[in-house]
Amino acid sequence: MTQPPTRITLASDRYERLAQIRDCFPQASGPDLSPAWQGGRASALARLSAVDAEDYARSRNQLTGAATGLSPYLRHGCLSLQETMADVQARFGKHSHKLAAELSYRDYFRQVWYRFGEAIMQPMESPKVGLGDKPMPDFIAQGFTGLVCMDEIVRQLQQHGYVHNHARMWFAAYVVHWLKVDWRQAADWFETQLLDGDTASNHLSWQWISSSFSSKPYIFNKENLTKFGGESWCQQCRVSCPFEGSYEQLYQQLFTEAVVAPPPAHHIKPPPPTPKGVASLVWIHDEMLSPTHALCAFNLPAVFIFDPALYQHWPLKRLQFMADCLAEMPGVDIWLGQTNQVLARLAQGRIITQNTPQQALKQAAAGLDIEWRTEPVLTETPLSDHQLMRFSRYWKAVEPSLTRGLCTN
Ligand SMILES: Cc1cc2nc3c(=O)[nH]c(=O)nc-3n(C[C@H](O)[C@H](O)[C@H](O)COP(=O)(O)OP(=O)(O)OC[C@H]3O[C@@H](n4cnc5c(N)ncnc54)[C@H](O)[C@@H]3O)c2cc1C
Repeated sequence: MTQPPTRITLASDRYERLAQIRDCFPQASGPDLSPAWQGGRASALARLSAVDAEDYARSRNQLTGAATGLSPYLRHGCLSLQETMADVQARFGKHSHKLAAELSYRDYFRQVWYRFGEAIMQPMESPKVGLGDKPMPDFIAQGFTGLVCMDEIVRQLQQHGYVHNHARMWFAAYVVHWLKVDWRQAADWFETQLLDGDTASNHLSWQWISSSFSSKPYIFNKENLTKFGGESWCQQCRVSCPFEGSYEQLYQQLFTEAVVAPPPAHHIKPPPPTPKGVASLVWIHDEMLSPTHALCAFNLPAVFIFDPALYQHWPLKRLQFMADCLAEMPGVDIWLGQTNQVLARLAQGRIITQNTPQQALKQAAAGLDIEWRTEPVLTETPLSDHQLMRFSRYWKAVEPSLTRGLCTN
């Protein structure tokens, strides 16, 4: 039976707050949020000011390189992509180019999600090689693959909810191409472990690795792993390395002939119904967690809902991360309960919120009078379906406007 909604007053003391969230979500898995990943805009701004775009361009592929660690903050709206881009471009001029391209990756995946909706959860194209359909084995989640590199990636994932991009790529390739797991199952599991879990960035990356959203599968070898990850994992490893060999040898070993399946249908969502009533409430959802969000400036009550139906699969640390963000938003009422019930109880008319491609959020508020305000965009450049099927095409189209004026700095 579902519990009646309750209002929560978040403790200002962080340790009490973490405990509060533990009590609200007794089933949530994993350890507490580590202090290094404190949520909120203040932490996001501190990370942003520490970004060195030149160092980033030189070292981002190294596990010890200057990755920004901004993804959980961008995912939850503590920082917008636009302000992040503007900040690094103002500080680093043309040297921000590499980081600007990577930041745009997030926008790219989001635009694909808006355009194709839930179709991104299925193959976007026929895979270019035969893929496996095995379920996600328990030994992965338990961190017992026997390979020190993969077990360490899983340990970091479960401990912090953050893993470097290169490690995500190695792990996904191992799971999909070596273990022959169905990428959809693997992607679902992976997303539930992340602090920055984002359906578009995650599922489309898994598809890119698999080859159903790219022209070839992504694989790696031991040389690549040690070049960018260092020697220490391999030095501790006691099993025969499945990644040993040239790319040609591994390709031969891993792949059978290409499977030609019919391309999937792409569904475009119909526009939401036009809202009718007088605006009465701002609904702050999980992509809007900043006191500087434009909708927080409205002279209306604002509410955030910890809805167990939406968040029961999220790790404890991510719920605590959101609580940190909300602690910096004193004007927002926080509730624990079903989204639909809470909104219906508080709204005296139309509810305003930021649009999202997350169907789960839309379904949670189905039937209510909601105005989904368009979220600010990174680029106004119009993009065709064809351009959205590859990042290289997207980047070719948007790069001139996004990097205009940087050459002279
Ligand atoms: C299998 C797999 C799953 C992934 N799942 C997610 C996910 O759920 N959420 C998520 O935000 N990212 C995901 N990514 C993309 C990328 O790994 C992370 O955004 C990045 O590692 C976050 O670390 P950072 O902030 O230090 O990145 P940086 O390298 O410092 O990049 C700065 C920002 O640019 C954006 N960005 C950079 N690279 C990418 C990329 N390849 N795709 C999308 N955005 C990018 C992110 O917003 C990131 O915070 C996934 C990648 C792979 C291979």
